[in-house]
Amino acid sequence: ELPPINGDFYELHMKLTEEQRAIQLQVREFMEKEAKPLVNRYWLTDDFPHELIPKFKKLNLCGVTYEGYGCPNLPFLMEGVIAMEIARVDASLATFFGVQSGLSMGSIYMCGSEEQKQKYLPGMQQFDLIGAFGLTEPEVGSGAAGGLTTTCKKVDGGWILNGQKKWIGNATFADVIIIWARDLDDNQVKGFIVEKDTPGFEVEKIKGKMALRIVQNGLITMKDCFVADSQKMEHANSFKDTAKVLQMTRAGVAWMATGCARGAYESALEYTRKRKQFGKPIASFQLVQGHLVEMLSNLTAMQTLVFRLSEMQDADILKDEHASLAKVFCSLRTRDVVAQAREVMGGNGILLEHDVARFVADAEAIYSYEGTKEINSLIVGRSITGMSAFV
Ligand code: FAD
Repeated sequence: ELPPINGDFYELHMKLTEEQRAIQLQVREFMEKEAKPLVNRYWLTDDFPHELIPKFKKLNLCGVTYEGYGCPNLPFLMEGVIAMEIARVDASLATFFGVQSGLSMGSIYMCGSEEQKQKYLPGMQQFDLIGAFGLTEPEVGSGAAGGLTTTCKKVDGGWILNGQKKWIGNATFADVIIIWARDLDDNQVKGFIVEKDTPGFEVEKIKGKMALRIVQNGLITMKDCFVADSQKMEHANSFKDTAKVLQMTRAGVAWMATGCARGAYESALEYTRKRKQFGKPIASFQLVQGHLVEMLSNLTAMQTLVFRLSEMQDADILKDEHASLAKVFCSLRTRDVVAQAREVMGGNGILLEHDVARFVADAEAIYSYEGTKEINSLIVGRSITGMSAFV
């Protein structure tokens, strides 16, 4: 009798209440039963499994931490645990959920007026409205804080938006798209809620991605796109407001990376216990066990870190640098874990049907989005040295 496969080696789930643990297991069951049978097929065809949306809706966990508007009002710890559980099976679906629940709903929740929250959040919570978040541009990624070229200009009754946004997750089928643009009058970054059929607003699917292929990323073009005053987010008046949203979502990405590593480790462990060479399971070889233990060490360090990260979020003491450190550490370690998982699976490690190949590819996108290693390191560096090395 072999021991159970368990990527939670230090039993961190014991930090959860009974109710929270039940939610974790509910998400795990949903992902295993409903999502897992679909993901490789959709990954291959570069499509989104729309049939999962009503099932996500049934889970009723979207807008995890928000109060009101039909949201569950759970602690940040649960936002992390949910992200980890989704990513443990598929990082694309975790990204889809993160864009909906975190980036787009979070922008409205943190920066919108009460009227805007009432108008959009209940529908988004139910996935009746799909959200997207447009910050990055074709020529401006890491330098978004000072370098946005998308502009907004105040006119009678509203604003005119011009520019492009690249990589925007969910954008090809989103109903509500958050757009960050620089005000031509005061040079500050402002945030807008743009509805999909607004004249002058177009989305083109980005094709040919080799990572997170299930998430649909769009290139948005805005040409003299008019939005009414009611669509300008009341409290989104400088990049500091954008950064508040990013702090929350970066913490979520650290959890997502951890989930991806956990999925890869567990798949690899299972495989090595079954696969035989030289008449013995390869898991019985010392060098293979060395890989497995190294993976588990990284995974355990990541999990311990993100549990503490969320405790800090729940205690309202989390700063940008804490979220950035976790994002850097977890996305870096995940790259190592998935690479070792692939390695111990030999040739089968590059076959989609064994899942780990998908984790290897997806880890590359997680590594780069929501701030690259360099940008998040510079945020931590500025905090510990008191010196900014950005420019
Ligand atoms: P660049 O900024 O061009 O960076 C290239 C390299 O230069 C990196 O290694 C970077 O670290 C390095 N570099 C840049 N500046 C410095 C510096 N000062 N010092 C040292 N090194 C530096 N954006 C959204 O707005 N919404 C989304 O929904 C979204 N989803 C995404 C999904 C995917 C799959 C991907 C890949 C990206 C997504 N993004 C999204 C964009 C993402 O946030 C950017 O790709 C990321 O911020 C990096 O920007 P960039 O790709 O333009 O790289």
